[in-house]
Amino acid sequence: MDSLRSNGKIMIVGAGGVATVAAHKCALIPEVFKEIIVVSRTISKCESIKRAIKSKYGRDINIAQVDADNVPEMVLLIERYKPDVVLNLALPYQDLHIMDACLEKGVHYIDTANYEPIDEAHFEYSWQWAYRDRFKQKGIMAVLGSGFDPGVTNVFTAYAQKHLFDEINYLDILDCNAGSHGHAFATNFNPEINIREVTQVVRHWLEGKWVETPAIIEDGSIHFGFDYPMVGRKESYLLYHEELESLVKNIKGLRRARFWMTFSENYLTHLRVLRNVGMTRIDEVDYEGQKIVPVKFLKALLPEPASLGTKYTGKTVIGNIMTGKKDGKIITRYIYNVCDHEEAFIETGTQAIAYTTGVPAMIGAMMVLTGVWQGNGVFNIEELDPDLFMDALNKYGLPWQVVEHEPLPDSF
Ligand code: NDP
Repeated sequence: MDSLRSNGKIMIVGAGGVATVAAHKCALIPEVFKEIIVVSRTISKCESIKRAIKSKYGRDINIAQVDADNVPEMVLLIERYKPDVVLNLALPYQDLHIMDACLEKGVHYIDTANYEPIDEAHFEYSWQWAYRDRFKQKGIMAVLGSGFDPGVTNVFTAYAQKHLFDEINYLDILDCNAGSHGHAFATNFNPEINIREVTQVVRHWLEGKWVETPAIIEDGSIHFGFDYPMVGRKESYLLYHEELESLVKNIKGLRRARFWMTFSENYLTHLRVLRNVGMTRIDEVDYEGQKIVPVKFLKALLPEPASLGTKYTGKTVIGNIMTGKKDGKIITRYIYNVCDHEEAFIETGTQAIAYTTGVPAMIGAMMVLTGVWQGNGVFNIEELDPDLFMDALNKYGLPWQVVEHEPLPDSF
């Protein structure tokens, strides 16, 4: 990470919780991020980030208003500011539009969540993988999924594959938020995206096939109590998460891959009621002559994820338990990070979910700007060398540990 292979200019799209953290972190590393431009739909949110960075670190950043779904508008902004990399921290709906703008101007692209069409709660990589040849021909790189999960969890797997195992056969990603935000109901990142994700039918990978099980709010959902480091036992629910799709392709020898997330009974009860009354619907309904999408209306009522930090206490614990072979023996290792909501808030004014996403987003951009990661085409993050990314996690606020662990069983 010694020399810059660029002018050190980053354009961050979006001005929510995750973008706030990424912008703060970039501002602290002027030797890599020489110029920062934050662009988003609501300019007042960009102004807040600009003010916070000026008052904390004395640095000036550029801001601009944009509708990132409007490719010509994005292209004009890229022409004006000439960033070396665009870090997409808006919503998954914008992914393809921002990739189109990057392609047109020959600029590297990074995101934290895979594309999802607005009218269908369905996310998969195929839409973004379809850009591979065009990115290759243009001589630029797209790095997909540089948040925590996807993101760090993929890098943990790549690191384990490189240093700890000859072959990983069983992968369990466990995401625990043991924090409390003091609201009856809120989501830790964009409510619309979050609710679409957690109300889906669940899938996990077993012996070369996807196995479907009920959504977390349905009878028959699969869950168990896991004893997390520092926070203790929490009920953890089997959930489909996007990194599974790329990991089962890129990590050879995986026989089983699952993702688990903790949910409180309070959260699940609220979600069931909201679903039962139709508030999680993503189609348009007619309300007194106006068309409204219930989940978008719900988003307007719920607290902004970026605002949750003020009262948030407790910790997140996210990591991978992996079982496989090393030198002829079967071993199990647990790699994880613990992040504290209050500490995240003191540093960046946001809670730990935004922090654990924004820091790796910054690190991904750093890897590209400094030339540690190079390549032409579209890459999932586990396809790139994990070592300096892992060092940077320790250095920039998300330290990790590797411990021995018992293997997790096939069923609970
Ligand atoms: P927020 O809703 O807080 O912020 C999203 C931002 O994007 C807002 O500033 C919003 O603007 C802006 N935006 C939305 N649409 C457009 C548009 N068309 N043009 C320009 N800007 C737009 O979300 P979060 O910060 O919580 O999450 C950001 C991203 O991070 C999401 O994609 C989420 O899925 C992802 N994420 C990834 C995680 C991971 O570990 N990989 C974990 C958590 C989140 P406005 O203010 O006008 O609404």
